[in-house]
Amino acid sequence: MIEHDVVIVGGGLAGSRAAVEIARTDPRLSVAVVAKTHPIRSHSVAAQGGIAATLKNVDDQDTWEAHAFDTVKGSDYLADQDAVEILTREAPDVVIDLEHMGVLFSRLPDGRIAQRAFGGHSHKRTCYAADKTGHAILHELVNNLRRYGVEIYDEWYVMRLILEDGQAKGIVMYRIRDARIEVVRAKAVMFATGGYGRVFNTTSNDYASTGDGLAMTAVAGLPLEDMEFVQFHPTGLYPVGVLISEAVRGEGAYLINSDGERFMERYAPSRMELAPRDITSRAISREIRAGRGIHPDGSAGGPFVYLDLRHMGQEKIMSRVPFCWEEAHRLVGVDAVHQPIPVRPTVHYSMGGIPTNIDGQVRSSPDGLVEGFFAAGETACVSVHGANRLGSNSLLECVVYGRRTGATIAEYVQKRRLPEVDEQRYRQEAEQQLQALLDQPGQYRIAQVRQAFQDCMTEYCGVFRSESLMQQGLEKLQMIRQQAQQIYLDDKERLWNSELVEALELQSLLVVGEIILTGALNRQESRGAHAREDFPDRDDVHFLKHTMAYYSPAGIELRYRPVTITLFQPQERKY
Ligand SMILES: Cc1cc2nc3c(=O)[nH]c(=O)nc-3n(C[C@H](O)[C@H](O)[C@H](O)COP(=O)(O)OP(=O)(O)OC[C@H]3O[C@@H](n4cnc5c(N)ncnc54)[C@H](O)[C@@H]3O)c2cc1C
Repeated sequence: MIEHDVVIVGGGLAGSRAAVEIARTDPRLSVAVVAKTHPIRSHSVAAQGGIAATLKNVDDQDTWEAHAFDTVKGSDYLADQDAVEILTREAPDVVIDLEHMGVLFSRLPDGRIAQRAFGGHSHKRTCYAADKTGHAILHELVNNLRRYGVEIYDEWYVMRLILEDGQAKGIVMYRIRDARIEVVRAKAVMFATGGYGRVFNTTSNDYASTGDGLAMTAVAGLPLEDMEFVQFHPTGLYPVGVLISEAVRGEGAYLINSDGERFMERYAPSRMELAPRDITSRAISREIRAGRGIHPDGSAGGPFVYLDLRHMGQEKIMSRVPFCWEEAHRLVGVDAVHQPIPVRPTVHYSMGGIPTNIDGQVRSSPDGLVEGFFAAGETACVSVHGANRLGSNSLLECVVYGRRTGATIAEYVQKRRLPEVDEQRYRQEAEQQLQALLDQPGQYRIAQVRQAFQDCMTEYCGVFRSESLMQQGLEKLQMIRQQAQQIYLDDKERLWNSELVEALELQSLLVVGEIILTGALNRQESRGAHAREDFPDRDDVHFLKHTMAYYSPAGIELRYRPVTITLFQPQERKY
């Protein structure tokens, strides 16, 4: 059996930042990072627009309180305000720390870190490295993992969280190269497994964003929080869905419909294209529904709107958002210096996740904690984003709460012994699970079932939702679940069997999708990203609370947890 003081699942920004913190705090601890991709290929590497922090390099009127207010208002008042206070107060410090680690941020002429405007932020506070910010940060963090002697298990797939008597004791994983199974025991387990964009058929997320950490936590009997809040990013490139960063609008691009009108005037007159994402995505969807979308031949009534950069000029486009220009050029043949880019909303981010307290320890119930289990980053719900995340607050959450959770763990493991784990039993169960998938006679291919599932979630639980739609979605999902029991694998070997990974990921997607749909059906109000056509208003009397969903194959039980309100009383949300 493999043993470590700490095992962290996930090598993105949150997992890497936590590992660095643990190793820095106590170099004697043995720390492992496990990732099904190479850490450098974690979705964090794709982050484009930037990371928010009130450095005041461009706008000296900015304050952490203003950042906190923007975040809470953006969250439609569902964020826990103690967690938001930590996020925004610690932001300048973590960004300077990244700079000291060697992250190459873009600069002002006087050498200080440059900052740009972003949706929902009232000041120019988003620090960036052109439009490749995640790339710049993750590369430095992963270099630092090596520098601090963190053990990296890359391309190992974690299948199970070992949880006994309310205590996390380790994980079960297998090496993708040859399907070798290992049981790992540790004094502390941390999940930093990222989001679940692949639950839907159009997403900005990478292929690995399948919500495995969420599903493993739910299947172990622990709750997931606020899963109904799915962020749709307004500007996914049509038709592929990859992201055209909000930085493009931050630098001045317009959204226009088939009449050539800057339609955001009618939805958010004071913020225009820089309204928060939930509002902008709904605005685009409404324009398309009203027949003011555009067809590929330029005529009205089509499935997308235009993102127009032309007035920005070639020099600004190529220096500030070169990657977005390249994406549009490479993927759909549009030269954004001379032509507008076709865009529509794409699934982007998970506001909900594994519930934690402000030190990253996982909650077992509205008021209980799990021993030995921690989470941070997109997979966690601490909750700083509530019902809608502001752009550039997620990278920030990863490093603030990655660092904080790392510090907590470094102290937590000092007084703990390695837990007892029945290695034989966990190894055998994992072996049986893999073998059963390989041997399954089945009649459906994985891709076929996954596509049906993704189409179902997109159609029945998209930007606009209603009771009848979601009921139909749940019924369809039951059928798809049955089909998923009857998949077969073409590849029966154990060497680099990518179908095996996909089969396990499909199981994760199904669990996560059912929790999203059930939470969404029960939240009979509209708040942030969750827009109900049958309940169009926010209902603070009944729903100013966090959903806690407990999964079992027989069904999902919902409980609730109060929102922490310390700084700002809920108000009507207008932009
Ligand atoms: C295209 C794009 C652009 C973005 N731009 C920005 C931006 O400009 N600013 C901003 O603030 N946010 C942005 N975001 C959001 C932000 O990038 C993510 O929320 C954040 O990077 C998530 O980091 P993470 O560490 O939580 O997880 P990830 O970076 O997603 O890492 C997850 C890790 O978990 C591992 N893993 C998962 N499941 C398993 C398993 N079963 N076994 C083993 N390992 C597993 C993966 O291999 C990976 O290493 C963007 C997101 C996207 C998709």
